[in-house]
Amino acid sequence: GIQWEKKVRSSAQILRADGISVLVTGAAGFIGTHVALALKTRGDGVVGVDNFDNYYGPSLKRTRRALLEAHGVFIVDGDINDQRLLAKLFDTVAFTHVMHLAAQVGVRYGVDNPYSYVHSNVAGLVTLLEQCKCAGRQPAVVWASSGSVYGVNNKAPFSESDPANPPASLYASTKKTGEEITHTYNRLYGLSITGLRFFTVYGPWGRPDMVYFSFTRNISEGTPITVYRVKDRVDLARDFIYIDDVVKGCVASLDTSGKSTGSGGKKKGSAPYRIFNLGNSISSPVTVPAMVRILEDSLGMKAKMDVTDVTGNVDFSFPHVNISLAQKELGYNPTTDLQSGLRKFVKWYLWYYGKPSAHLNQF
Ligand code: NAD
Repeated sequence: GIQWEKKVRSSAQILRADGISVLVTGAAGFIGTHVALALKTRGDGVVGVDNFDNYYGPSLKRTRRALLEAHGVFIVDGDINDQRLLAKLFDTVAFTHVMHLAAQVGVRYGVDNPYSYVHSNVAGLVTLLEQCKCAGRQPAVVWASSGSVYGVNNKAPFSESDPANPPASLYASTKKTGEEITHTYNRLYGLSITGLRFFTVYGPWGRPDMVYFSFTRNISEGTPITVYRVKDRVDLARDFIYIDDVVKGCVASLDTSGKSTGSGGKKKGSAPYRIFNLGNSISSPVTVPAMVRILEDSLGMKAKMDVTDVTGNVDFSFPHVNISLAQKELGYNPTTDLQSGLRKFVKWYLWYYGKPSAHLNQF
């Protein structure tokens, strides 16, 4: 109704001269919350959409939503597969950009919930792109792909032009499919597309299903953590990237994304298609035991560690990443090392779970 439109319009209001209006999908998610907040804070118009899926604890998503609303960002409760909802949103606001972060995330979850990945990461993506294609003024699209598209046992450090190996999970395969689909919409309909291959993103308001988060919980509660080690070879390592650095990369992607060249589904000229690695160049890659030591330090507690040697079909690669393309094209330069980033996370964790009712005063 009118009330809904009023909220959407007010949230989309641009408060600085060269501002943009952005639809952020997955806005109640970890990365979405931070990106929406950063855009709103600098005076852009921002409207969020999120279906509040129950992959992880609903209370964290609700609190993120309250945080955004306190900053004037309205989150529409809905699914990106809902054509009518998307049409209504685009009728209400002529978005210049779409920051598409909604997805079914998680790797192991895909074993028992395969259709959820198809629903959100494939069908939902197509529905959203169809809306962008048909819009009177086509928005430029920036979306979250994933470092997992490089596939199993690929040779690190990964560069954007490296060929991919077979995906290790259904999650990874839907992200890879997403790259094909977005590329097709770029070629056929002149949509400006930027795909961001995030590596492991961490920080305050993060995802409880991720290892740094569950380790923090276990260490602080005195329960054991399981650390996997590839026998006689190496400790498994990852490229961790702090949320504030990722947000800068997302914002720079929006600002450099150029124009879509089509309108109302017609192609006119050629719009950019870009892919960037967004990882860390400072402390990558970091082994899991090294991460545990930092967490122990920040919490002032010792971890109870069960080290499990794994053999057989494991991924030996060190998934670290070459970010020189993003450095050159986006001016992307991560500045937070793992030690200070994890300290900030732990500080947030202790505060949030210590007194969740006070949440809006400090963040
Ligand atoms: P998240 O789960 O916290 O956020 C995703 C949000 O999307 C959730 O709030 C969820 O409710 C919403 N959503 C899911 N399906 C939807 C649908 N069909 N319609 C509307 N909303 C829907 O995850 P995140 O870590 O913030 O990830 C954001 C994006 O970045 C995702 O696309 C993810 O695949 C990608 N990514 C994240 C990481 C990481 O380390 N966090 C790494 C690589 C890629």
